Amino acid sequence: MPLWFVRGLRRGVVTTRYPARPDGSAALLPTPPAFRPRQLTRETADRIAAVCPSIALRRQGDELAFDVGACTACGRCAAEAPHAVTSSGEFELAATARSALVKTIPILGGHR
Ligand code: SF4
Repeated sequence: MPLWFVRGLRRGVVTTRYPARPDGSAALLPTPPAFRPRQLTRETADRIAAVCPSIALRRQGDELAFDVGACTACGRCAAEAPHAVTSSGEFELAATARSALVKTIPILGGHR
């Protein structure tokens, strides 16, 4: 029987202290990507949009539209362009308006 289960029965606490205190296991969670605008080119933006299985990325001219609400944090975009995409480390993504989850990232790299 797992130790945390026995401890929870003894103390009457069966969950972590999150959100009052950060949960250490959160560091292990996959999180949506963050982008380095100066490393993004139109070509890179098109490539990462093409590998995104949830259609969360879309290039609009010299901007990359990122729908965080559609992102599953699969990591394919970061694997495709690790120089331009990294993990955000952010998993608390609740918003009161759907539109707040759509981000626009300027494409500042390469030959535009
Ligand atoms: S992490 Fe996956 S779902 Fe999210 S934007 Fe990148 S490819 Fe798309």
